[in-house]
Amino acid sequence: MSSEYLESEIFCMGTNIIQRVYGFNARKTIKEVENEMKRLEALMNFYKDSSEIGILNSYGFEKEVKLSRDVFYIIKKAKYFSEISQGAFDISLAPVIELWGVFTKHERVPLEKEIKEKISLVSYNNLILNEGENTVKFSKENMKIDLGGIAKGYAADRATQIYKQNNVNAAFINLGGNVMVFGEKPDNSDWSVGVQEPFKSRGEIIGVANITNESVVTSGNYVRYFEDKGVKYHHIIDPRTGYPADSNLMSVTVISQNSMEGDALSTAAFVLGDKEGMQLIKNYGAKAIFITKDKKVKITSNMRQDFYLIEDNGFEYCSEVGL
Ligand code: AMP
Ligand code: MG
Repeated sequence: MSSEYLESEIFCMGTNIIQRVYGFNARKTIKEVENEMKRLEALMNFYKDSSEIGILNSYGFEKEVKLSRDVFYIIKKAKYFSEISQGAFDISLAPVIELWGVFTKHERVPLEKEIKEKISLVSYNNLILNEGENTVKFSKENMKIDLGGIAKGYAADRATQIYKQNNVNAAFINLGGNVMVFGEKPDNSDWSVGVQEPFKSRGEIIGVANITNESVVTSGNYVRYFEDKGVKYHHIIDPRTGYPADSNLMSVTVISQNSMEGDALSTAAFVLGDKEGMQLIKNYGAKAIFITKDKKVKITSNMRQDFYLIEDNGFEYCSEVGL
């Protein structure tokens, strides 16, 4: 079997999606994944009134809105991750996220009064799901949801299903920092994924994670932010306050077989901070790397063999975490 190797990059879901695929049918598979990513974007685009999320956000209080299997499934899982994180992860934060102008050209610090008003709309308990019918209804007027904290993970999982179905030898996909690898490379070397040094520019790493058929997802306060009067405001919001999560963390990287889980867990753990966040990851049975503002690196014990911290870079392991 000839082993073709191809790379591709498209802009979709608000980010650059990079694929590297090994296999005789690499070209066809890459195209299929690109089409799937475009389909998912069309379903979930928060800013498009005609997307399923747009329709749900417009009519969800008036009536039950019928959704595709994909979108219903993601909302169901999102609600589950809200429950197990005591609400640290919450897709119904959208009205607050809109105030901050995350991912728009109108980023700004909202007035306290505005945050108070919008945060009263936020609770995953106000999402009413009907399993048999695949419908969702809002129990509060003016509620909205945003799948930005979980959708890329789902997309990575869908890509992996397509790699499997097409029997490619190996594949790598990166959706703006949401990485997933599949299969074995022709030279049988491990897949290794760099973990970003959170104080430095993109591409500089503090360590390397070796992974197999897994996903690596990072939530960090440097990924997206704006500055106002010398203060940095990042894009991960604490549902308890309506303000950017103010934990002792710079980033949380979650390694898991399912990328959607890793995506939701990394966002939730970032909000919860290193102690509670680590507990959440451990209870769930995932692997993780936490980087704190005081340059401590905490890893779950199941990651000990597979993470290498670059020496003498100012970061050190924190002994608290089973090392
Ligand atoms: P991530 O980059 O996966 O950590 O997700 C961050 C994105 O999810 C943000 O850009 C928001 O669109 C949305 N988001 C922010 N805070 C939360 C939260 N606490 N729970 C769920 N989604 C959030
Ligand atoms: Mg996430």
